Amino acid sequence: MAEFALKVIQEQIAEAIHAPKCHRCGCLHKTVEALADTQAGQSELAPVLAEAKSVFTTKEYDCLGCAVCYPAIAANAFSEAYPETAAGLDLCPTEETEERSGWPPLSGDYFVLRYRAPVAVCTLNSPQIASELRDLAPEGLCIVGTLHTENLGIERIIRNVNANPNLRFLIICGQDTRQRIGHLPGQSLASLFANGVDERSRVIGAQGKRPVLKNVSADEVTAFRQNTELIELVDEERPSVIAHQITRCASQNPGAAAGSASHTGIETVLVDEAKPLVLDPKGYFVVYPESRRGTLVLEHYTNKGVLDAVLEGHTAGALYQAAISRKLISRLDHASYLGRELARAEQSLKEGTPYVQDRAPEPDQARASSVSSCECPEGSCQ
Ligand code: SF4
Repeated sequence: MAEFALKVIQEQIAEAIHAPKCHRCGCLHKTVEALADTQAGQSELAPVLAEAKSVFTTKEYDCLGCAVCYPAIAANAFSEAYPETAAGLDLCPTEETEERSGWPPLSGDYFVLRYRAPVAVCTLNSPQIASELRDLAPEGLCIVGTLHTENLGIERIIRNVNANPNLRFLIICGQDTRQRIGHLPGQSLASLFANGVDERSRVIGAQGKRPVLKNVSADEVTAFRQNTELIELVDEERPSVIAHQITRCASQNPGAAAGSASHTGIETVLVDEAKPLVLDPKGYFVVYPESRRGTLVLEHYTNKGVLDAVLEGHTAGALYQAAISRKLISRLDHASYLGRELARAEQSLKEGTPYVQDRAPEPDQARASSVSSCECPEGSCQ
């Protein structure tokens, strides 16, 4: 048994040595370091482990989630031959990831759409579905991403979901990672919801290789299970079907969860009414659509009422970019006013409806008085 296992380990580590992608992968680093740390099989394994260490480069990812993972097969063979020794080894890259401020606190392979939406979607080992759902952007979708590992990956989901009390549903869909060694993160995630973790932080009932959540507390696991409802759609790969479930969940949104175990403290600020704009020293704009030519026109005047530029184009974006690149604007509030007016003018051009430039709020008196007499036309001075 041990002899066969050691041969498998030698072969698999040799495969990883010949695969450049493994040189920078946490799976190979962790497995080789763990195996080199034990006396079991050392006389046979020492040469191949030393060679593996010699090809290590800086770790770029914890696990690439490959369909066949050589170090994982080696680790599995070792566990079968030396179960007691293996129980005390860290054969997977399960280091804690550093949190950053803001949300989501942990990086990962995901797309964020709307912070306050209630649904997270995990497409397991199907990245294409994540991209398609991002493009569909169904109402209610907050975040969508993949999951490749049954420990670090699930920990990241727990911490990112707990950090956003608006998230009340987690849909798992797509293909679970079915390797020869079997990470099975989808099955592990479903087991976590169904059974929780034991006293050693192992997900009860999980069939993955190492479903141990050592970087999240019991309180975090409890909050995750209590505040989030799991919708199991494993093997479902049709974006339209998943989008329908997202919309259905959104219609049943119970609102933000109270008492999350952790969250980033991002709060919604209710803002006051707009304050009066301050006069832009660069001057002011007159905006209008010219329907005969099918264009938008932007005239720029100095604060003495002297025209110094006329821009013409077909879209709001083209015109405000041209105004910015020509340095015709110097204040952010003026820029936002201009963007809004150009968008309204573009809409009116498209729909053939009348456009009247919005009267800007009166310029700040103190600033205005510091500028020699303003001769702007009525309703166009900003
Ligand atoms: S997951 Fe396994 S096979 Fe894939 S790069 Fe990492 S070590 Fe290599």
